[in-house]
Amino acid sequence: MPTESPARRRRPADLLFDPLLGLFFTRGRVERVERLTPRVRMIRVSGPAVRDLAWTPGHHVRVHVKDLGAPVWAGMLRDVLRTYSVWAYDGEGLELCPLDHGDGPGAGWARSVRVGDEVAFRGPEGGFVVDRSAPYHLFVGEETASVAFGAMLRALPDEARVHGVVEVAGPQDRLPLPRSAELRWRFRGDCAAAASPSLLAAVRELDLPGEPGVAYLAGEARACQAVRRHLVDERGWPRRSVLVKPFWTPGRRGMD
Ligand SMILES: Cc1cc2nc3c(=O)[nH]c(=O)nc-3n(C[C@H](O)[C@H](O)[C@H](O)COP(=O)(O)OP(=O)(O)OC[C@H]3O[C@@H](n4cnc5c(N)ncnc54)[C@H](O)[C@@H]3O)c2cc1C
Repeated sequence: MPTESPARRRRPADLLFDPLLGLFFTRGRVERVERLTPRVRMIRVSGPAVRDLAWTPGHHVRVHVKDLGAPVWAGMLRDVLRTYSVWAYDGEGLELCPLDHGDGPGAGWARSVRVGDEVAFRGPEGGFVVDRSAPYHLFVGEETASVAFGAMLRALPDEARVHGVVEVAGPQDRLPLPRSAELRWRFRGDCAAAASPSLLAAVRELDLPGEPGVAYLAGEARACQAVRRHLVDERGWPRRSVLVKPFWTPGRRGMD
């Protein structure tokens, strides 16, 4: 029998708060928690309201990561919602993969969440999705980006041409991505993702076809911008062929 963690026990304030929450959020319960890498837990959320959602691979959800019984209208919005890509969705449950990067309401939620806990979220939504008309697809990013990449890669037909570089701290941080053999993995070691030169260096080394494809750049914001500049300024790609979705950057909280 699943037990609720203390943070998710219902309080008297719920009588007022529950109907409001229901207006703005989809609610489900944690069905399974699984460790995919030492720092990434896969959290599967299911329930009647989670069935048959409109979802395109690459979409994200905005999760209510605070105590569901606590009102959120007191200027605390900044720390209430955190954004996570949907790793997989089978029409019954959606799977999220938060990285445990250290301190933050989202990372804290992901560490403490247990089977049976209630989860409220908005979405799925977003424009960071594969362009099926692309001559080929280029995926570039780090650990957090690879969650979205997993869903996007799974959605591509077998004949689609794929290139990519994924930078992670070490081999143990690689998510089980489809078509992994077609991607280059880079290990930054102890270097911070925002300061690491290895992602851009690896993209520079890629032997890409002569014509531009469509690039999907996600993860740490500065790294995304550096790769975007390289593709547009040095390789001459049109700006519209480079989709950029910064997920986080040092010092900023709850980017969306
Ligand atoms: C569209 C979208 C999809 C996303 N998908 C995912 C996903 O699938 N998995 C995932 O883990 N994250 C994902 N993110 C990123 C996630 O929303 C942010 O990392 C978020 O800031 C985490 O919230 P937090 O409360 O833990 O930390 P915050 O309070 O928001 O941040 C506190 C500080 O922690 C540091 N920090 C934040 N994130 C990281 C990180 N990844 N690595 C190192 N330091 C960090 C920064 O210095 C930041 O200032 C996504 C973001 C967006 C916009």
